[in-house]
Amino acid sequence: MTRKKFLAGNWKMQKNRAEASEFFQSFTRILGNLSDVTRVVDIAFGVPATLFDVSVKCAMGSGVKILAQNVHFEKQGAFTGELSAGMLVDASLAGSIIGHSERRQYFAENDEAVGKKWNALALAGLLPVVCVGETKAEREHGKTNDIVTTQFEAALSQVSTEAKGKEFVVAYEPVWAIGTGLTATPEQAEDVHKMIRGLLAKHFGKERAEVTRILYGGSMNAANCAELLQKPNIDGGLVGGASLKPEDFSKMVQAAQNFH
Ligand code: PEP
Repeated sequence: MTRKKFLAGNWKMQKNRAEASEFFQSFTRILGNLSDVTRVVDIAFGVPATLFDVSVKCAMGSGVKILAQNVHFEKQGAFTGELSAGMLVDASLAGSIIGHSERRQYFAENDEAVGKKWNALALAGLLPVVCVGETKAEREHGKTNDIVTTQFEAALSQVSTEAKGKEFVVAYEPVWAIGTGLTATPEQAEDVHKMIRGLLAKHFGKERAEVTRILYGGSMNAANCAELLQKPNIDGGLVGGASLKPEDFSKMVQAAQNFH
């Protein structure tokens, strides 16, 4: 089974509108016709809300998906500073990253909230990119699989049967590898991805598990992405730092094209 590779940039709290626009111009100049590229590799960018409109406009017709980096699970109401899934639909986004470790760490996002966000996105027709991953201490104590399993299953317990029927993507992001320059070795990442594939089979059946993409995230870059992507259960990447420069990210897209 070959799953289409999926490279998602995570711009975090970076870039203004002019910089975003310049990025897309250069990215397109380097890669050529983006709709040809997205036929073989899925490409997405998680952007700050101030860049939703410019990014959607730049990506229009190319197949490149624009994502939010967070969403609220309620439909509307007195939640100052938050955006609902319906608002993301209204802004023509394709989905949202949820449960990123920075949100878990700095904004107290827990597994229950991640599950509710997954549910809200799926029911709104948006793609949830569900992040899981262990800290350095948890890995050193041999708890990686337990932590990732708990994060995934606790989130899943909040997802309705209807929402479970919709597509989602899992991003395995070891916290110790994010923004640190320390990448999990392809073998370390593959071990966890294989375990996650097993979890998918347990909860969704073998067929769904085979088609659901599991991305790796944590200091993935143009130099290390090919060896990660060649592992059978690594279906792409969630990329922070290396997605900020069109020269770097386009190299990663080119590497992913080779696996088509
Ligand atoms: C991320 O923030 O999701 C991430 C993987 O960052 P970086 O690639 O910079 O480690």
